[in-house]
Amino acid sequence: MAAPNIETITSLAKRRGFVFPSSEIYGGLGSAWDYGPLGVELSNNLKQAWWRWMVHERDDMEGIDSSIIMNRLVWKYSGHEETFSDPLVDCRDCKARLRADKLNYPAQDTRSIEEAIKQRAVQCPNCGSTDLTEPRPFNLMFRTAIGAASAEDDPSVLAYLRPETAQGIFINFLNVLTTSRRKLPFGIAQIGKSFRNEVTPGNFIFRTREFEQMEMEYFVRPGEDERVHQEWIDACFNWYLGLGLSAENLRFYEQPKEELAHYAKRTVDIHYRYFPEREDDERQWDELMGIANRTDFDLRAHSKKPEDAEGKRLNPDSTEDLSYFDEATKERFYPYVIEPAAGVNRSALAFLMDAYTEKINDKGEKRVVLKLHPHLAPIKVAVLPLAKNRPEIVQMAKDIKRTLQPAMRAVYDDTGGIGKLYARQDEIGTPFCVTIDHQSLEDEAVTVRDRDTWEQQRIKVADLREHLQKQLQVTSDK
Ligand code: ATP
Repeated sequence: MAAPNIETITSLAKRRGFVFPSSEIYGGLGSAWDYGPLGVELSNNLKQAWWRWMVHERDDMEGIDSSIIMNRLVWKYSGHEETFSDPLVDCRDCKARLRADKLNYPAQDTRSIEEAIKQRAVQCPNCGSTDLTEPRPFNLMFRTAIGAASAEDDPSVLAYLRPETAQGIFINFLNVLTTSRRKLPFGIAQIGKSFRNEVTPGNFIFRTREFEQMEMEYFVRPGEDERVHQEWIDACFNWYLGLGLSAENLRFYEQPKEELAHYAKRTVDIHYRYFPEREDDERQWDELMGIANRTDFDLRAHSKKPEDAEGKRLNPDSTEDLSYFDEATKERFYPYVIEPAAGVNRSALAFLMDAYTEKINDKGEKRVVLKLHPHLAPIKVAVLPLAKNRPEIVQMAKDIKRTLQPAMRAVYDDTGGIGKLYARQDEIGTPFCVTIDHQSLEDEAVTVRDRDTWEQQRIKVADLREHLQKQLQVTSDK
């Protein structure tokens, strides 16, 4: 089972402290969200799991953390100033601003969206009007100014908040290559915030103007790119499966030529079934991550380049040539780049939706159990005293929590009856609850309850930390 729709997760997330609407006391800010106490743990766990898999557990990877605000020329030569835009359409009746490529338009209609809009064959999803303006490009980069001057008075101070983390990797290619003494193939990974002035943000944390990306640029010899690209497509899919997403809610999407970004030779997206409630199967899916073959576009674009036939440098502003010299073959060339690019927020949403299950307890009551993979679960163990009026039991529970907390995120809770306490932890995905009862005072043992099976096991306090650590290592069986 998975969540029946995004709204179910939105309300659970607000109620339990995963994600709150941002700036709510001032009326909010469109689609901006803040991670609460549980959300920040989930998001940190997700980023750690990705970093461990992508960087630590491989032999061919380095990591970096580059600036959000970079020299404007980065975005000039990457092509973003010119082309990083979405087609914007206005509804002349209700004044809604819409993204032309996201308008509801039957796939079997062979007209281009521009033609269909001109012929009034497309409806505004807001008011149903067919009176839409022609699509025009809207650049998604957020503009800012560096220092005290304004960019209107002095264009040289214009800067952008980065719309992707990838460019910070390309412009550091030589730095990383020379300091790490790497040889092809190798990759550079980065996790960080990106910003896009989205025309139509929405669907909770699926599309926001500020979001986090986990990106990796893998540099290979031209000619090896297609094989390596396919290997990364499969590896990324398996990573999501390994962390608990169900295969039936994931699919590959091969981007058709007309959808490809200006730098891409081939891009395969991994889609998640974010909208299971929609009748039309095709509309149930949307992008979780993209894996692109960016060719040598970016490294070339940022290179001062050896003089070309007409004696001109192609990038007159760059001071470096980002080509690679292969010592073995004595060849110099621009590596091809394979890029797996995932969103932290969209991944968190997919994991939350997929983990959502409902279960009926022995009293016939409905319980929500969030079957998050133990590596992702915000809290690993809750320590619960069965009799909070017995100071020795309370003390023992607090002591146990303290011995566990250097090894795992543990919480103590005595603010309800045991049924309620279990239900609370199930709903936020805590894999284990530990209860301390009268017997514990005598036999130095506690009850460990499993979130998914609700089975209970008696464990000696002396063995508890090691027992839980072992259990948390294993992959949860959904
Ligand atoms: P879309 O078509 O949905 O706008 P995109 O193809 O532009 O996405 P990429 O440029 O490939 O996205 O970015 C890589 C990943 O970053 C996406 O797969 C997604 O997980 C995440 N991402 C991109 N834009 C947003 C956003 N506005 N909000 C949240 N996550 C985003």
